[in-house]
Amino acid sequence: MTNESGGRGAPVGEAPATSGTRGEGASGAGIAVADGTEILRLGPHTVQLRPENGGKYPYGNPLVVRGADRTAMLDACLHTSPADADLLLVSHYHEDHTVDAGLCPEVWVHERDAEAVRTEAVFASAMEIPDDEIAGLREMFRWSPVPEARSFADGHVFDLGGGVRITALHLPGHTPGHCGFFIEPDNVVFLGDVDLSSFGPLYSDEESTIADFRATLDRCAQIEAEVYAAAHHKGPYWDRAEYLDALKVFADVVDRRENAVLDLVRDGVRTAADMVGRGVVYRPGRRPEFADRVELSTCQKHLDDLVERGVLVAETDGGYAVA
Ligand SMILES: [Zn+2]
Repeated sequence: MTNESGGRGAPVGEAPATSGTRGEGASGAGIAVADGTEILRLGPHTVQLRPENGGKYPYGNPLVVRGADRTAMLDACLHTSPADADLLLVSHYHEDHTVDAGLCPEVWVHERDAEAVRTEAVFASAMEIPDDEIAGLREMFRWSPVPEARSFADGHVFDLGGGVRITALHLPGHTPGHCGFFIEPDNVVFLGDVDLSSFGPLYSDEESTIADFRATLDRCAQIEAEVYAAAHHKGPYWDRAEYLDALKVFADVVDRRENAVLDLVRDGVRTAADMVGRGVVYRPGRRPEFADRVELSTCQKHLDDLVERGVLVAETDGGYAVA
């Protein structure tokens, strides 16, 4: 993507709604999108807005759902603007899902993620973002707090009119309030950052837990839908078996990391800090800027989880050992 596309003043807001769309014009989404965005129809009332890079971070693949009375956008990403939607439902508080969120007249988020959308300090501490990185993130993702954001709980139903309904599915683990959304009558499920990537789940935020993520993976395996859409580049899946295969590959990464942590403990690498850079999350070599932070937190969560389950014990010097 070009540099402009990620910066403040990106062409998103100014682009005509029909700009760069494929297959459907403005009537397909009713939302301004950046050049090159593909509007993929998932159901009679539901489209996915796919950016040129397919939805890989820092981009994503938001949905737009049109009822008889109201239009909802599920997540707000770099190539879209939620200004034209009546309500914005965000899957979780992360910066790549809340771009320009304050432009939407009504913003909704699960109650456990709500403060991180409303308040910058909570957002920064939840993601453990260093002070000197906040300004860059605010600029790149057109992020600002949305103090008036409203909150919902699991099972909350948003009625868009004409029989079009969106039900919130609490799928915690990535963040404590992370949610998917089930769209009726289209039978489309939006899975947010249960993104089915082969990289695997991320659960490094302050209040993320592996136990939550495992329960979420189980819940996701129970979902029956016509279409399974994730927030990033994988999918959408129209075939349930293909969806379940992708979910399994995604889930298996948790076990792979757990085994890597256990092997390291057995080899005498006894703290999360000493595990950073040893391939638990990122392959050694090309690593994103935030890799150390994510890896440190992820290793610590695995250590905590293994202690919780009685596999490891925490020793008095701060190290861990096999129980
Ligand atoms: Zn996320």
